[in-house]
Amino acid sequence: MTLPTPHPFQTELNVALAAVRSAATICRAVQAAMTPEVLDKKDNSPVTIADFASQAVVCHSISEAYPIDPIIAEEDALALHQEDNAGFLRDISSLIQQHYRSASDDEIRQWIDRGGTREYSTRFWTLDPIDGTKGFLRRDQYAISLALIIDGELELGVLGCPNLGSKNQNDASLFYAVRGHGAFGMRLDAESVPKPISVAKTSDPALARFCESFESGHSSHNESAQIADSLGIRTTPVRMDSQAKYATVAAGEADVYLRLPTKVGYYEKIWDHAGGVLIVTEAGGRVTDLNGQPLDFSRGRELTQNRGVVVTNGPLHDAVLEAARSVAAKQADPS
Ligand code: AMP
Ligand code: MG
Repeated sequence: MTLPTPHPFQTELNVALAAVRSAATICRAVQAAMTPEVLDKKDNSPVTIADFASQAVVCHSISEAYPIDPIIAEEDALALHQEDNAGFLRDISSLIQQHYRSASDDEIRQWIDRGGTREYSTRFWTLDPIDGTKGFLRRDQYAISLALIIDGELELGVLGCPNLGSKNQNDASLFYAVRGHGAFGMRLDAESVPKPISVAKTSDPALARFCESFESGHSSHNESAQIADSLGIRTTPVRMDSQAKYATVAAGEADVYLRLPTKVGYYEKIWDHAGGVLIVTEAGGRVTDLNGQPLDFSRGRELTQNRGVVVTNGPLHDAVLEAARSVAAKQADPS
């Protein structure tokens, strides 16, 4: 068995893995306690509480190890400073205090605030505390995604996908990659031994296994169906929430993940991709935008230089890009 080789980010990796494991434990507990009555309230409170709690514990772990590292995280603690949200902050705190007994409400709000960096810097972390909130509420796929970016380059990526293990051959729910050192998958428990993962070798576009967002508002289902059609793909796409799609391609269980813009002016958020991109590329795959350009993580919170995202096992990449281009051209000029 290939064991992970030593690399310069071992300490960062240990911190990131422990942080994502803690967040996953909290998310799992909230998901397990979701009753139909709670979900009927339609205010999405379980996922919102888990989201803030996940951000709090991950930011706290990073801050303890790296007090000056900036963190660009999805959630904003502003609302938690308002008087009328005091009950909400209490709910988040009581969840966290099951693991960190002495943490006060104020400290927990500060932990969440640590994720409030907005601008790019030469070394920073980016975090999506719960990616795929709709999947979380459906008890389906969601992910905790954490990455370290230095000089605009992804150096370390970790994805916790608590509900993915039961769906893949390796029983893996925790994935990581360090640039130049491969990608690995394991169970979420600390005793689990990482195993190398790699993309599938599929080279015939007609045999490609596709995945895409469950939500058609996040990626155009209509356009992906046309692309699949033009590649000769007959099977229906697997629809899945969150960066679990990146993990699925990295582990060789899908060949293509397409994210096709649905809204003019929407820029992809860095935390929706950073962790997943490195895991796919280190597993041997390719990730670009629809123009074949690499994703540019040096622009702050958004991928302002990119349009759409194309993730493949590698051999299929050019054919998928070409099919996407010809579908877009046809749409622009139907004659
Ligand atoms: P997924 O689970 O892959 O569908 O992606 C979930 C992510 O989609 C969320 O974390 C949002 O940040 C992001 N999102 C929200 N609106 C859009 C949009 N119009 N286009 C692409 N992504 C979006
Ligand atoms: Mg997200």
